[in-house]
Amino acid sequence: MTRRISSITLLLATLVSLPARAQQAAFAVGTATAAAGQKATGFIEVPPGVDAAANIPVVVVRGAKPGPVLALVAGSHGTEYASIIALEELIARLDPAQISGTVIILPLVNTASFEQIVPHLNPVDHKNMNRFYPGKADGTQTERASFQITRQVVERCDYLIDMHGGDLDESLRPYSYWVKTGNAKQDAISLQMLLAFGLDHIIIAEDRPKDPNASRYLDNTAAVRGKPSITVEAGYAGTTEHEDIAALVRGALNVMRYLKMLPGSEAPIEHPVWLASVSSLESPETGIFCPLVARGTYVAAGMKVGYVTDYFGKTIFEARAPVAGVVLHICPLPSMKKGDTIINIGVLAANAP
Ligand SMILES: [Zn+2]
Repeated sequence: MTRRISSITLLLATLVSLPARAQQAAFAVGTATAAAGQKATGFIEVPPGVDAAANIPVVVVRGAKPGPVLALVAGSHGTEYASIIALEELIARLDPAQISGTVIILPLVNTASFEQIVPHLNPVDHKNMNRFYPGKADGTQTERASFQITRQVVERCDYLIDMHGGDLDESLRPYSYWVKTGNAKQDAISLQMLLAFGLDHIIIAEDRPKDPNASRYLDNTAAVRGKPSITVEAGYAGTTEHEDIAALVRGALNVMRYLKMLPGSEAPIEHPVWLASVSSLESPETGIFCPLVARGTYVAAGMKVGYVTDYFGKTIFEARAPVAGVVLHICPLPSMKKGDTIINIGVLAANAP
């Protein structure tokens, strides 16, 4: 009942203020054009080049009221399913009538990876779709797609959230990245976005490239262009657990509340675990892997975290933690190739920022 009264009040307030406020113009990304108060779907067309063309699905949610432009992206790695499903839920859930501003949603950047069940890479050109930003108009498909996303999404948004998760071979506990640019005002906003999003482990990333023409990662491409941006990770090993999807959906809605794009207030996380760096261990051998610790476990330096055997069961490598810290992800699969990642360990920061 209270809800009904407040929406009537809101409607009256909107009607009263209409003559004073011009309606927002339509907003288009790719073939999706949404007028104020509308939701539109379409594709960002990646033209053919040295390899095939691609169509990246895009949704534009144009709020009834003016406000900032927020980009939500998932599926650069097309088998990180929880993040993709979370954006599918948000497409259904976001109501343009309630929104101040505009939301651009790219739920699945790497459709070839999704369709062919190929982790980490775009199977068309075997490139990682979160390493070639800002992209090239005349490169391979990953570079051309990155080029279109930079121009049509990054350059036109005010804030960006890139969603990832554990890939098929990564058993991952949720965490996020704070890309520090050195611009105090921008870094303070991205920090507030992370706290509003609410994942309780945050990696402080200070080593990202500063060159806008070699920004590599999507979040960093936005960051070096002056747009506060964050990367969040939840989900693991091909699963679509409710808990992971709900954390991503809730996080995006809370960032929208922080940005005043939705009514209501967010409850920022108060005491996250701050991680100063991430230490990765690769397998020096091809064989059968057996993990001995779970995602989220705290390990001491030198502790045995798993082992690799040959195809006759003889141990050929003992995996030991290179540092003390929290297991961000560990390989849950027996398949292990030389050079594959066994484990990523987050090293706790000495001080909160
Ligand atoms: Zn990813």
